[in-house]
Amino acid sequence: MNCLFCKIAQKEIPAKIIYEDEKILVFYDLNPQAPVHILIITKKHIPHLLELKKEDAEIIGYLHGKIPEISKKLNLEERGFRLVSNCKEEAGQSVFHLHFHLLGGRRFNWPPG
Ligand code: AMP
Ligand code: ZN
Repeated sequence: MNCLFCKIAQKEIPAKIIYEDEKILVFYDLNPQAPVHILIITKKHIPHLLELKKEDAEIIGYLHGKIPEISKKLNLEERGFRLVSNCKEEAGQSVFHLHFHLLGGRRFNWPPG
């Protein structure tokens, strides 16, 4: 499949990997928007949140369940962080493989611009 994040998951394209198991992959964003900016992806190719099927509930729960461990690894448990998933182009999605941005190490405004 011609998908950048599938290629990263299959190690066809390199990435700075932070965590990996059979279901998810966590790596540094190439163009960081905060002192810590990582991407958490499912290894399964799901284009975005609107494409989630009933059977994806387990993997999505699993991914979110890993966030405490990942954020501790990045020393963000004291300060906190922001988790974002852009869905479709108007929201800023540029890679159509489901991913969650985890951003931390600076203050963020709300609402976002
Ligand atoms: P989005 O715009 O929400 O789809 O997020 C895609 C993210 O992927 C952007 O923040 C990009 O900086 C990041 N990105 C693009 N190519 C790579 C790559 N080869 N390795 C790591 N991150 C990437
Ligand atoms: Zn993909």
